Amino acid sequence: MKKLALVTGGTRGIGAAIARKLQEDGFEVVTTFIGRPDAAEAFTKETGIKTYKFDVAYFESCKDAILNIEKDFGRSIDVVINNAGITKDRFLHKMSADEWNAVINTNLNSCFNITRNVIEKMREKKFGRIISISSINGIKGQIGQANYSAAKAGIIGFTKAIAQENANKGITANVIAPGYVGTDMVKKIDPKILEGIVSQIPVARLADPSEIAALASYLSSDLAGFITGATFNINGGQYMQ
Ligand code: NDP
Repeated sequence: MKKLALVTGGTRGIGAAIARKLQEDGFEVVTTFIGRPDAAEAFTKETGIKTYKFDVAYFESCKDAILNIEKDFGRSIDVVINNAGITKDRFLHKMSADEWNAVINTNLNSCFNITRNVIEKMREKKFGRIISISSINGIKGQIGQANYSAAKAGIIGFTKAIAQENANKGITANVIAPGYVGTDMVKKIDPKILEGIVSQIPVARLADPSEIAALASYLSSDLAGFITGATFNINGGQYMQ
């Protein structure tokens, strides 16, 4: 039986590229979305991948949705890609509590909300892959992104803790920290600012979502069982640790 992979926010951008790649690798894939049913419908039509609408920011929504997915597919989830994310950029001195909370809930608390609802069954079957998408800006910090940088840095601590807790149960947990990738999220940046960003990338271009998907694919594979608690930078050399 095919392993079941859940990609949150998997109907557009990086998540969609990961979902396609995992399908190509032989996984049964399901994805989620929240506000763009048009994109979800087009994605399902093109790939045959089933999409579920629920908000990853809420624990109960995730719990119910994961139970539904397990029921629909008759098995538990083997691979989770915590990918759904948003930005609400503003200098801290102008940032509202709503902007702070929305980004922390969607980008960081979502990792708890999803992972908590799959981890017990992964431990029972002694297999699991948890891959969470952080960001270069969670590592180096970014002006106007106190909320986003905090959430993305939090994902790294979360992953290191759960990697240790579950290492002896056949479960790995890893982080991918992309630099700037050519998706809708980046397309909404002012073109002048984006030009400035690209000029600081040694590879001198944005990443293609497929370049992030290739690593997610490897980390999801059986071969990657000795890699856990790691953070992988894919940023065209923009920031080197
Ligand atoms: P996009 O904005 O292109 O896509 C975001 C996806 O997440 C969509 O499918 C969206 O659904 C879904 N989503 C957003 N909020 C929720 C929610 N509350 N519940 C469920 N699903 C939700 O983003 P990217 O592909 O650019 O980014 C994917 C991840 O990669 C994010 O975590 C982002 O922070 C991270 N990242 C992106 C970088 C980039 O340069 N693009 C760089 C570094 C990290 P819908 O279509 O319905 O809106």
